[in-house]
Parts: sequence; C-alpha cells; structure tokens
Amino acid sequence: MDRGINTRCLHLEETEGKTDNYGSLSFPIYQTATYAHPGVGRSTGYDYSRLQNPTRAHLEKIVAGLEYGTDAFALSTGMAAITLLFELFKPGDHIISEADLYGGSIRLFEHVSKKNGYEFTFLNCSESDIEAAVKPNTKAIYIETPTNPMMNVSDITHISEIAKKHDLLLIVDNTFLSPYFQNPLKLGADVVIHSGTKFLGGHNDTLAGFIVTNRDDISEKLRFLIKTTGAGLAAFDSWLLIRGIKTLGLRMEKAQKNAQVLAEWLGKQKYVKEVFYPGLPTHPGHEIIKKQARGFGSMITFNVDTQEHALKILEEVRMIKYAESLGGTETLITYPTTQTHADVPEEVRLKNGITPCTLRLSTGIEDVEDLVAELERVFLTLI
Ligand SMILES: *Cc1c(COP(=O)(O)O)cnc(C)c1O
Repeated sequence: MDRGINTRCLHLEETEGKTDNYGSLSFPIYQTATYAHPGVGRSTGYDYSRLQNPTRAHLEKIVAGLEYGTDAFALSTGMAAITLLFELFKPGDHIISEADLYGGSIRLFEHVSKKNGYEFTFLNCSESDIEAAVKPNTKAIYIETPTNPMMNVSDITHISEIAKKHDLLLIVDNTFLSPYFQNPLKLGADVVIHSGTKFLGGHNDTLAGFIVTNRDDISEKLRFLIKTTGAGLAAFDSWLLIRGIKTLGLRMEKAQKNAQVLAEWLGKQKYVKEVFYPGLPTHPGHEIIKKQARGFGSMITFNVDTQEHALKILEEVRMIKYAESLGGTETLITYPTTQTHADVPEEVRLKNGITPCTLRLSTGIEDVEDLVAELERVFLTLI
C-alpha cells in the first residue's frame, strides 16, 4: 500500500537506514560545482552539478513520489520548467492550450515559442470542444485546472482520453492545487508542471519549478535537456524546497479552510459582484473538481463593482500584502490586470474574464478571524 501523502512529504523510502550522512535528519546541502572521480572511467554517480547534484536529486525523488511520477526535474523557476519542456517540440508543431493561463506562460508561448515556429490554438478548455481543434500537426494539449486567475475547472480524465485517441501529450500545470490535492498523472496526464515557488516551497522565499512524468521516453529526453541547457535548481534552493514540502499538507489544509471562510464572506459583501472559488457549490466546476481532486485549494478570484474600489482595496490592505505570487504562508492579493497578466493583450484578458475590477487572493495560514478583520476594515473604507 502507498504511504500517505504527509508521510511522503517527509520520508523517502530508499534513503531510510542510510547512515552515510552521520544520521543527519536534515538532508545535507551539497554546495559543490564538481565531484572528484575515484579513478579513471569511474564516477560517484555525480560528475558536475549542472547534470545532477545529490540535494537536487533527493528533492526530485520526493516530488516524483508526491505526483506518482517515475521521474521529476527541479528547475530554477516554474518558467524555466515550462521552457525546458517546450524544447521537446519542433518548428511546425501545434499545441492546443488553455486560454486562461498564468500570464507568464502566455508570454512565453506568444513571444518565444511562436518565434521558434510553434503554432497555438487557445481555448477555454472547461467549455470548448477540444477535439475539434486537433490538427494533423497537433502534438500536445496544455492545461491548468483550476486556471489562473479565473478558476475554471476542466475535466482531466476527459481531456486525457482525447489526448490518447490522437496520440497527443497531455501537460497539466498543477501549481494551483499542488500534489496534495490533485494528481494529474493518475488521471491520464503525461506531464505535470509546477511552479515550486508557490505551494511546494510555500514560504514566499524562493523560486523553483518542476516537471514530473511517468514516461521513460520523456524523462530520458529531459535529462539530456537539463544537462544541456543548464537551468537545474541550485543546491541551497533545493534544500529550501525539501524543507518547505515537509509541511505541505498542514499548510494546504489550513489555507483551504481560510479560503472557504473568505470566499463565503466575500460573497456577502455589497461591493463584490462575483466570487470564483471552486469550493462554493455555485461554482460551475464544483462537481468536476470534487471528482478529480481532494480539495479546492486556497485561491479566490473576485470582481468588485468598480475599478476605483478594486484599487482602493489594494491601497488599504496592510497585513494582507499587495504582491504577486501565491501559495505561501502569508495571504497575498494581486491585481491581474497590471501584475500577473499585464503582458496579456487587453482583448484576450477581457475575453478570459479578467477585468479592471478583478482581484485575486491567495489565502495564507494566518488566523482566519484576523484575515476577516483586515478585510472588514478595508471594505469599510469603500464608499
Ligand atoms: C507562478 C506560476 C508559474 C511560473 O512560475 P515561476 O516560479 O514564477 O517561474 C507557472 N504557472 C502557474 C500556474 C503559476 O502560478
């Protein structure tokens, strides 16, 4: 039987009983660029840290285990992970992508991938007929669920059936729920992406990215690419991720509890027009997310009535920080129009539902009474 997810956040079965680190409970930081060879033609298994480093390797095994993958790759940022993954494609390849994606992913696809000759079709994957968009040169489907920031939920199993039928790679950016709540590989995806900067690191203190797969052919290509292109995660940052992941479950549960309270509270405010949180029974993706995930996460997007009110909220918050990013211990509020999604063309933003009245909240693990008190104080300044 599989060990539980909280245990897998802390223990790696294959290193149990190993004593060569003096029994150190904290995994050592191998701060080294290179490794001495025991003899000609011999290796300790490590030759140069761009290829691999023991601290990074330990982290990769933990993350592979959390996502039920056979291999994982730790990179310097989430964007470095997506960039490396896209080296699998070649000019002329077509990719069907969710339209409402993290703004940085859209920027990468529009300004770098297209220059490299990749073609894209952007769809709302929770509503559109994905199969109708498949062309002879289609190679992959790229989704986020829930999406950033509009929280649309798409059915991973259903999309994986389309991908399998047409021999396409299904790539899921699982940043918003983390492996604690959702495991796309178990639902038929081939590759999972994470911004490790968010829930996995969890403390708003370091950047990281992951690619996880259960396909040996993909894993072999990615090992070659990480060695060749060189964006592997540094040893110290790998250690910060190992440390962050130890409390993934505790943080996700607490942040989710806070999010449910704040989503319900926001729904009762007169200046709030819409709340997008999949934990609300009124959310259109509520039943699908219940079927494919173990939780709803801690990201809430909401629309207020006017842009003035949206900006006033950002001016007035104190304990809740007006900052981009998400998934950390501290609650953050973001303005997608000028922050995370500023580089997305205005007409695309509006089509996806991101308006100047849209705010995105990432709930942290503070006492929920204090978060409500902060929001009550901020909302009293709106007139
Ligand atoms: C933040 C984010 C990324 C990019 O990750 P970085 O670590 O900031 O490079 C990718 N996808 C999603 C869903 C994100 O939220």
